Amino acid sequence: MDTKYIFVTGGVVSSLGKGIISASIGKLLQARGYKVTIQKFDPYINIDPGTLNPYEHGECYVTEDGMETDLDLGHYERFTGIHTTRHNSITTGRIYKTVIDRERKGDYLGKTIQVVPHITDEIKRRMLRAPLNPSEGRNGFDSPLHLEGSGEAFDFVITEVGGTIGDIESAPFMEAIRQLRWQLGRNAVCVHLTYVPYLKAADELKTKPTQHSVKELQGMGIQPDILVLRTERHLDDSMRLKVASFCNVDLECVVQSEDMPSIYEVPVNMQRQGLDAAILRKIGIPVGETPAMVPWHTFLEKQRNASREVHIGLVGKYDLQDAYKSIRESLNLAGIYNDVKAKIHFINSEGITPENVAEQLSGMAGIVVCPGFGQRGIEGKIIAAEYTRTHDIPTFGICLGMQMMVIEFARNVLGYKDANSAEMNPDTPHNVIDMMEEQKNITQMGGTMRLGAYDCELVEGSRAWEAYNNQCSMFNAQCSIKERHRHRYEFNNKYKAEYEANGMKCVGINPAADLVEIVEIPEKKWYIGAQFHPEYSSTVLHPHPLFMSFVKACLES
Ligand code: GLN
Repeated sequence: MDTKYIFVTGGVVSSLGKGIISASIGKLLQARGYKVTIQKFDPYINIDPGTLNPYEHGECYVTEDGMETDLDLGHYERFTGIHTTRHNSITTGRIYKTVIDRERKGDYLGKTIQVVPHITDEIKRRMLRAPLNPSEGRNGFDSPLHLEGSGEAFDFVITEVGGTIGDIESAPFMEAIRQLRWQLGRNAVCVHLTYVPYLKAADELKTKPTQHSVKELQGMGIQPDILVLRTERHLDDSMRLKVASFCNVDLECVVQSEDMPSIYEVPVNMQRQGLDAAILRKIGIPVGETPAMVPWHTFLEKQRNASREVHIGLVGKYDLQDAYKSIRESLNLAGIYNDVKAKIHFINSEGITPENVAEQLSGMAGIVVCPGFGQRGIEGKIIAAEYTRTHDIPTFGICLGMQMMVIEFARNVLGYKDANSAEMNPDTPHNVIDMMEEQKNITQMGGTMRLGAYDCELVEGSRAWEAYNNQCSMFNAQCSIKERHRHRYEFNNKYKAEYEANGMKCVGINPAADLVEIVEIPEKKWYIGAQFHPEYSSTVLHPHPLFMSFVKACLES
């Protein structure tokens, strides 16, 4: 079958959950046996979000092939289990960079380079995942192929466009969609997500913003096929009919997305209203039977039944839900599979002192020491790691969090009072965390860290090995794992023997570069630090074994 393209845009306000809707559509089509991918187009000028402060855009998600991307890719992977790549996260910056680089190479043969058609053509090429060399297809667009290097052909490519209709910067993306719609005919479908506010004083739901949003879209030449109305209150059929008739959309193509107790209920809610069936009908594919999605329903059942709570502290510096999105979701998922509700408490490491640490961590069954960059808040992380180590409270250090566990151990067990990471103090005499050799000559910030999936050999019999082998059949009987990274600094092997002799073991090693990827103190209930980010590979149907075993330990402690 020809590849079909679904475009997802948003109107009225941002933060409506376009990523969740896109991921849900992906999930539902995948459940019908189609090969799906989901990509995000962001209209900002940064080449990627890797250099953005998490306060700006939340967490930076990392793909296996080492691209720093928007956090929506985390939703795509958690919902569908598919592995995204660098082709799934595109920004205006990357589009312009490709066009400008080609212009410098002389590819445009003396033409004046303009937003239309050159920028819009490049957007279209990437939306179609077509090859860069136009000779490979008429105009470069007529053969919807997989993108160079991606090696995969898809039944459905879902493209989510960031921002809100009417934004100046998203106009070229809308123009690209308009053109593609025309070119692809029935092989393209436009889904528009809008908001229906409830006015308390009038006790009424209002559809006018939706009507305006659709008008704006129509003004750009795009007629949406399907409307998804985000609402806090149930919309009755007369409201849906009103929207349908004002917006030129079939009634069955107006679905509502009410607030749900969990984002993982959304695909099922969308399926109940026939969103996937409506998409297939628009494209002209026989709808067939509704897939039962048994594993997904089993998970939801478990989620609904989990009433016991386990309190877990997130020790970090970004007081923003989205900053540690994948860690939060990984804890939630591991909680559900352990039949409990993970209650996550953000604990600002900047406020932790030796005097108040007991009070700050009181009531926590375990803590996660969060990833991060730079000096701010690290002393609080070290104090927290010391407290949980000496009080035997389950502790999970991730990336910078693992590095802080290592520094704490050096200071308080090995006796190197001035131990530090070279990131915080390049002149520290005891650089137990040091810059990786290959990072030393790098001056550019963007995309130059150790990024993406690397091999890690587990030491058999270690706690980490046990976690991978006991918790998740996916990893059964494996000593070799692959996990995603995003860092410049690393455990300093000069100190390895001393750590091991004193009780902190190096139990995960990257064989190619002999880098320490996991440390643990086996005498403790659960005290493990990972240099990689296990949170990026935890999915709804396959929660990550380290999170599973950590939450289990929290429950038992
Ligand atoms: N700042 C640390 C490093 O670069 C850790 C990075 C992280 O936590 N992602 O090594």
